[in-house]
Amino acid sequence: MKKILVLGSLNMDLVTRVHITPKVGETLLGEGLEQIPGGKGANQAVAIGKLGGQVAMLGRVGMDGFGEVLMKNLSANGVEAYLTQAVQGPPTGVALIMVNDSGDNSIVVIPGANFALNKEDLTPAMFEGCDYLLAQLETPIETIETAFAMAKAQGLYTILNPAPARTLSKQLIERTDLLVPNETEFATLTGIQPDSEAHIKEGASLLFEIGVKEIIITLGEDGACHIDTSGNLHYVKGHKVKAVDTTGAGDSFIGGLLYGMAQGEDVKKAMNRAVIVGALTVTKLGAQSSLPTLKEVEDYVG
Ligand code: ATP
Repeated sequence: MKKILVLGSLNMDLVTRVHITPKVGETLLGEGLEQIPGGKGANQAVAIGKLGGQVAMLGRVGMDGFGEVLMKNLSANGVEAYLTQAVQGPPTGVALIMVNDSGDNSIVVIPGANFALNKEDLTPAMFEGCDYLLAQLETPIETIETAFAMAKAQGLYTILNPAPARTLSKQLIERTDLLVPNETEFATLTGIQPDSEAHIKEGASLLFEIGVKEIIITLGEDGACHIDTSGNLHYVKGHKVKAVDTTGAGDSFIGGLLYGMAQGEDVKKAMNRAVIVGALTVTKLGAQSSLPTLKEVEDYVG
């Protein structure tokens, strides 16, 4: 089994349920308040760990109660935490999340200690023994750029989930082997909405010209689409489930994908499990609280 290093954020998610999402200036009553470990980086690492993959997390938390809970939570879910440290000063990252009756969410992220993961903290030794580097965009961009340069120099395969959406430097794109955006992120990176096969090919070709080797666009309940440098599209349909809370769907899809790749599966084959992992996640409230184990995935497949 190959080893995955995840560079990314750890947040404590403070989650409440609302019937409808409040408009600007409106006050509504929320139902319940849950503290659920989250952060795109930790969600993806825990998704891999819960499935039984070999995974380590590189990140930062604050020296506070939330930080302690998040560190323990990594280990409890099979994620190696030796590269995740508590830093003095900024508090642990927090996300304020509202989930409405349709299962749609609104999120405000306060990055805190996640932004204390500096490029100077990185050493080539951190990448030794790892085969894949996976990152998102909730930590400083210079740190991600430096990590991708170090990882490529050591022959790792790099995967970037460009979330939350923002534009990226040419240097980071050219060091990305597999890019996994959702539709909004794809449009932000390329200036083209992925609303037709022609548009997907047109947008993807801009990224391939810079150096990306393959792309998977996640399409919510419709599943996902893989594009290779020859312009071949391969769709994997989403699984029909009752959506309770879509938080973490993208993270769990990526976790499922990386788990399969680390078992030696071809990327397109790994997508078959990833769409199931994504679908199972939307049937429960919360991000990490809803990530399935391998047994739950196998029981679903039957
Ligand atoms: P989020 O930001 O909510 O975590 P995302 O926008 O990054 O999600 P999506 O494209 O919405 O990512 O979802 C990722 C994957 O999860 C999809 O490719 C799909 O396989 C699965 N998925 C998402 N929503 C649903 C749904 N309503 N029903 C079934 N599967 C879903």
